Amino acid sequence: MGRELTDDGPKLREERNFEEFHEDLRKDTRVPIVTLNNINNDTESRVHSHHVKQMIFNGKVTFEPVRLNQHNSDFKETKINVNQLSNQVLKPKGKGIHKSTNYNNKTRGFNELTTPYINKFIHQYNLNDLNRNIINAISGISKAQRNFLSEYDMDEQDELYLQFLNNRYCKGTLTNDLFEIVMTVLENEWIHLEKQIPPRSLSSNSSASDHHTQTARIYYELYGSDDGTSAFSEQACAVCNETESTNSNAIVFCDGCDVAVHQECYGIVFIPEGQWLCRLCLVSKNRKVNCALCPSHTGAFKQTDAGAWAHVICAIWIPELYFANLNYMEPIEGIQNIHKSRWKLNCYICDQKVGSCIQCSNKNCFTAYHVTCAKRASLCINFNKTPVSTIVQNQMSSDNMIQSYCDKHSPTGWHDCTEGIMKTRRYYRDLNQSKIENNIFPEVPQKNETQVASANRSKWKTNRGTPIAPHFFSQIVESVLSLAKVEHSNKVCYLICKYWSMKRELKRGAPLVRRFDSSSYNTLTLDQLKERINFSDVLLEDLLKLKGLSKLIKKRIELDEKLNSIDKNINNISRAPEKIFLRNAILSKFVSSPTFRAFERLFQESNKHYVMIVRCKNFEFNKLSEFKEYMEESFAQIEQDPDSTRLLLTKTSKTKELFESLINKISDFDVKKHIRQDFTSDPNNGMITQERPWKGPILLEDEELSDAEELNIREERLLRHFLNR
Ligand SMILES: [Zn+2]
Ligand SMILES: [Zn+2]
Ligand SMILES: [Zn+2]
Ligand SMILES: [Zn+2]
Ligand SMILES: [Zn+2]
Repeated sequence: MGRELTDDGPKLREERNFEEFHEDLRKDTRVPIVTLNNINNDTESRVHSHHVKQMIFNGKVTFEPVRLNQHNSDFKETKINVNQLSNQVLKPKGKGIHKSTNYNNKTRGFNELTTPYINKFIHQYNLNDLNRNIINAISGISKAQRNFLSEYDMDEQDELYLQFLNNRYCKGTLTNDLFEIVMTVLENEWIHLEKQIPPRSLSSNSSASDHHTQTARIYYELYGSDDGTSAFSEQACAVCNETESTNSNAIVFCDGCDVAVHQECYGIVFIPEGQWLCRLCLVSKNRKVNCALCPSHTGAFKQTDAGAWAHVICAIWIPELYFANLNYMEPIEGIQNIHKSRWKLNCYICDQKVGSCIQCSNKNCFTAYHVTCAKRASLCINFNKTPVSTIVQNQMSSDNMIQSYCDKHSPTGWHDCTEGIMKTRRYYRDLNQSKIENNIFPEVPQKNETQVASANRSKWKTNRGTPIAPHFFSQIVESVLSLAKVEHSNKVCYLICKYWSMKRELKRGAPLVRRFDSSSYNTLTLDQLKERINFSDVLLEDLLKLKGLSKLIKKRIELDEKLNSIDKNINNISRAPEKIFLRNAILSKFVSSPTFRAFERLFQESNKHYVMIVRCKNFEFNKLSEFKEYMEESFAQIEQDPDSTRLLLTKTSKTKELFESLINKISDFDVKKHIRQDFTSDPNNGMITQERPWKGPILLEDEELSDAEELNIREERLLRHFLNR
């Protein structure tokens, strides 16, 4: 037997390094972070975003980072260079994934779309008056809607369906808010209703389930059971045969084949919300499989490392076998280690040459039997209250932890097994003669269509546990829709009810709105409650810290934005320093002066000289010389124009006077030279890149400052020393 423990044993997926699963994942790849400033509510951008959502929903947009339109003010770029990223778009590997190599080129329109990655948050307090009134009215509609709060949160799928409803029936009258209200109404109604449905009628109608129980009883009396089903009392775990369960080790029922197992007996680490399926039903539903080790087709199965199927109990009892992962109890390994002689053993109960047997633990007895045959015959084959997890963990080190005995060597006090053995033999005889098919109960006689329809009318849930909205649900929805004057509300109410059922089906019957259930606290002890309160206190403290942190982050972002806008300003100035200087020092003063305004009032817009006014007011000059030349020429044109009135000529000379006085103040001022003194500039585009370090002495020389000239040599040396320090 070549079974040895590895050093650290199998690890949970969560504990393993991601590189084991994704060798090629480039963890250093930068992803674009996109924030949306304003949510556009105009229809055009909505259509675009629907288009994108549709693509995402269909799995067509998966890997491409959003390519931003640089000049679109709706987006703000982070410091990550998005353009650079979109040039090296990650290409999906392997086939079956939508080809997207030239994605950006093919759909140019994508650039202008609103980003699809951010959901809109619709808050209760953001509801408009209409919806507020509707909510107030809903609370009175039925008992289930008391203290109504719109709690449903739409997803991409809902948005697409809503768009469909609006296009087809409602012409835009069904809003997002209203849809969320209606879905919440349905959830409330169902939760209220579910409390009142008698548990037995949940899965099927009562006469059929009576029939079912009756058949099960007959079957059990005839054939016994090897999977815990007995139809008399609570269903026992198919692995350990116990009926008790605890919070941390609950008995879970498969929604496909109804097999019952403890979490620890089947390796169920997390119980999913809604539906749970055993491995067999998950992998090959409705298909009969053979156990590699025994003749039985019922019970709790897992797969072997080679993909074959085997019972969990067969894997536990046959000493050569073990579970590769102890937490998930799969796959079953070690079949190749089973000794040849074990395969040759003959089951004394069923007498079939299939699979592999175990032997009576009595040292002098060689009687062999299949694990499942022993169980069906109710031989003494149990774990003596040892937890299955303990047995499984010690499977490779100790063979003595569990014992089984043939009927002759049963411990004293064990019941007589003759009848059980007889039942088992009868079971396999009838099974092999096709009198029973895989222990599936005889079909309930087929009903005709009207009978099925009437049966469905009284059904609450489908066989998969999905709620079916009863007729009065649609009436309630219609009354809500008509409050909002939604078009075709009598038709749409049915569609929404159906959609709600399908949405529940998609979530395996789980509620679509999460609710706090205070009743779960009733079972806690005082100490457990105290522990929870302490934990909540810690949590609250952390949350408050988080709140403080968020405030700081917000502040930092605001400062960052401020810095950005200042940077932008500086860049604008540096790109055209003379233009800015001209605007700030001359033009703005010039156009806002009373003289200029009086001058401006003399012109009609159609006047040929009016263009001068416009150019001044729009600061359309890049250089001082350009401005000077243009103005001088314009003044001259007015003066020489024979149509100019005396008033115009007077005002012109006054304006010209003002213009010249402003110009003369700065005519010999070299803007660029001054800027160069304080900043270094990029020789390629003339942009200011950096502030120069302080160079006092150079300035002293360049400017020939008068103060410095009057210093004697000693004083000057002192000053230089001071400035250079
Ligand atoms: Zn169990
Ligand atoms: Zn199942
Ligand atoms: Zn088996
Ligand atoms: Zn057998
Ligand atoms: Zn024996």
